[in-house]
Formats: sequence, structure tokens, C-alpha cells
Amino acid sequence: MSGAIQRSHATETREVLRAYRVTLDPTPDQESMLAQHAGAARWAFNHALAAKVDAHERWKTAVAELVAAGVPEEAARKKIKVLVPGKQVIQKALNAVKGDDRKGIDGACPWWHTVSTYAFQSAFLDADMAWKAWLDSLTGRRKGRRVGYPRFKKKGRSRDSFRLHHDVKRPTIRPATTRRLLLPRIGEVRTHDSLKRLKAALGRRSGVIQSVTIARGGHRWYASVLVREQMLMPAPTRAQQAAGTVGVDLGVHSMAALSTGEIIPNPRVKARHAPALAKASRAYARTVKGSRRREQARRRLARLHHREATRRSTGLHHLTKRLATGWAVVAVEDLDVAGLIRSAKGTVDKPGRRVRQKSGLNRSILDVSPGEVRRQLDYKTGWYGSTIAILDRFYPSSKTCSGCGGRKPNLTLSERVFICTICGLSMDCDVNAAVNIARFAVASDRGETLNARGASVRPSHLQVGRPDALMREDPPEGGPPQHSDALASSTPT
Ligand SMILES: [Zn+2]
Repeated sequence: MSGAIQRSHATETREVLRAYRVTLDPTPDQESMLAQHAGAARWAFNHALAAKVDAHERWKTAVAELVAAGVPEEAARKKIKVLVPGKQVIQKALNAVKGDDRKGIDGACPWWHTVSTYAFQSAFLDADMAWKAWLDSLTGRRKGRRVGYPRFKKKGRSRDSFRLHHDVKRPTIRPATTRRLLLPRIGEVRTHDSLKRLKAALGRRSGVIQSVTIARGGHRWYASVLVREQMLMPAPTRAQQAAGTVGVDLGVHSMAALSTGEIIPNPRVKARHAPALAKASRAYARTVKGSRRREQARRRLARLHHREATRRSTGLHHLTKRLATGWAVVAVEDLDVAGLIRSAKGTVDKPGRRVRQKSGLNRSILDVSPGEVRRQLDYKTGWYGSTIAILDRFYPSSKTCSGCGGRKPNLTLSERVFICTICGLSMDCDVNAAVNIARFAVASDRGETLNARGASVRPSHLQVGRPDALMREDPPEGGPPQHSDALASSTPT
């Protein structure tokens, strides 16, 4: 099957969830309220997670006791049932013990009334999701990279953020003007960017605000407003159709190589920012704990980290928009990112080779983040009338000659030019891979990854020939406890 894709010319309307992100300009009072909400959300997440971990520990202890009494382990695991509490259960239990400092009643969180109740509720949901993601990943229900055991959030370490919902019939999250966003409990917050696009979505596209996520990034606060809206999915333009398919090879030597022969250089954001970051972190390390200078140095460091992150994100957005608007079909490799960047260290029995070199390579791969490129392409192609095509991850795109189809084994990553020993083709090896990707990728249903035969790709944990990957799939001691009632119900939008 070739990369040519038939697409109906009629435009269709689709209901989509779209986030509108704006920078906030809060007053000092509002800023402390935002921080307070973020603190409450962190507290609530940790509270909920602690309840789950506690249940899990009780289950493990009970199983261990049975095993000690002579019951086979498998049977013991099946026999012991412990309910891991979900959002509803935790919320109800907390209501009884939370206290109220307005009435002088001490409790778990007597300050609860100072923040929106949604800050608690969404944190409980997040804890449910984190637990479920770990459990599903453990039992193989969840695709992709292994998800670790949920961790507690730490002040100053974890990102400050919280999510607020509202009753969509009587919206309390809405743009008051093009420059002011109304938030429940916090009030009207001035925005640094215009809310015009958000207002347009609410008007013309009959969008409905679902929730708002507020997060701190560096020294600024951002609001991401999630809107359910009717979106017109356009057909490809004539220019896009004329351009046809573009194959994209992501990120080893360059940010991307296109099948047209164009090479988009690696922004190397990390490398460029490294000296300034190193300097700032040294300065920070030299300051005295608790001093005013330390706080200044911390802020400076955070700003640098933040700037690096925004630059990287801008570069990726430019690339994905250009691809989605310039061609009718964007073909990418179904890159197993986790596999590519997996540490080269190897295992004790079989230590890895060229660990230093490979970790340098890992850094530049991470600079481009193929997973993020793929995610952006998934929705942007829909917006701009193009489609995404995925190449089976087992297709050796970099080892195959794009001229004659011959295979060239034992390719090392340091070889920049692909020279075919059969037909004599000589081409940049990333471009050669991009041409193969354009030719052999298969159109993908939105969100579904298919291989060349149209079957779903195998889950990564079943991959063979990668001992280090298999080693990581050993279930941690204890194993999965029982599901809670709330885990299955109420998923956030
Ligand atoms: Zn050849």
C-alpha cells in the first residue's frame, strides 16, 4: 500500500476539546490566592494518595500473613480484598474530619473554606487517575511507557497548579472582557494576552467552557481554559493536495529531515542555555539557606528554566504547524521514544557500551521530543485539512535504500550519509529515512496507531529482542490491589 490517501472533500463538523492558554497578570493579592489554591490542590492530592497507599500497604501485609501461614502466594493475592478509596469515598471521609477554623474546630484542613472546593475535587480526581494509570500500566491495559508508582507532590519541587470546574449552565469561569478572565473565588484576573480567540470560540463555534487549569511557570501564572466546541474540519487546500505527502524523520542529527530533502536544524535549546543555567545554579548553590539572596537566585534560575522550556515549545509548534498546513499528508515514524532514550547503561550482567556518547545523543533527542511532535500533529492535521500517516515502528526506514529498496545492515548513528552498496545512491541518511517514511507510512485513524498491515501495534511490553525493556516489566512486589468504585466512574474531561 502506498502513502496516497483518499480524503473526502466535504468539510465536516466535529466536537472537539480545545485548550486556550493565556498568561495572567494577577494583582499581588490574587497571586497569593493562586498560590493558596495550588497549595490546597497539592495537599488534597497527597491526602488522597496517602489513603490509597495505606490501603495498598494493608493489602500487602494481609497477603504476606497468609503466605506465612502456608497459603500459596497466587491464592493469597486473590483471596485478600482491600478497597482502595476513590474520590467519593475520600471526599466523604474528609468532610467528617476537616474541621473549620472559623468556628475554632480543629481538623485535617480547617482552612478549606478559603479556597474553591473544585481545587480539592480535581486533585482527588488526579490522584484517582494517577493510581489508575499505574495499575493499568502494571497489568498491561495501558499502552506506552511504563507508569511508575504515584509519587507525593512536594512544595517547591512539584509544579504549582490547580484545576477549577463550574456549572456549565451558570458559568463562573468566563472572559469578562477581552482582557479579564473571571475565575470562581479568585475574581476577575487581568490577562497578559487577549482573550479574543477564546471569546470567538464561545460565540461563533458555540463553545462551552469545561474547566480552567491554572499553573505557575517560572515567575508567571498561566490559565489554560478547556472548551468543548464545534469545529469545522476543513478539507485539504489545493496547495496541500498539490504538495501531497511529506515524510518526516525526527530528531537525531537534526530536528527533522523532510522527504523533500530539506533539513530543519536542531535548535539545540538545551545546549545553548546550558552555560547560563550552569552559572545560575552555581550562584544559587553558593547562597546561604533562607537568605534573601537565595530567594533572588532561585527566581533567576526558575526564569531561565522557564525560558528554555518556552523556546523549545515554540520551535516545535512552528514545525508542526508548517507540516500540517503545507502538505495533505504528514507521514511520521511511530517512534518508540521510550526505547530510543532508554539509558544506555545496560544491566549489571551486561553493561552497555558507549554510555557517555549515547547519553549525549539522548539529550539531543529529548530536545526535539518526538512524542510531543506526534501529539501536536495529531490535532493540527485535523485543524488544517491534512491527515497523519504512521510508519510501522518495525519498518527499518533508516536501513532501507530509498532508491532501490535494498537493505543495509549494521548502520551506525555516526554515519551521516547513506551510501547504497547495491544501486550507488548517496543521500543524507535522515532524508533517506524520510523518503521511506513518506512512501510506506499508512494513514492513521485519529488516535489509533496502525502498522503496515492495518493491525494495531503490539503493546511495548511485548516487544522482543530488548532485554533491558523486559527487565523493567517485572511487577513491583505486592502486585495490583482491587479496584475502587470511584476509579471506574467519573473521568475528567
Ligand atoms: Zn539502493
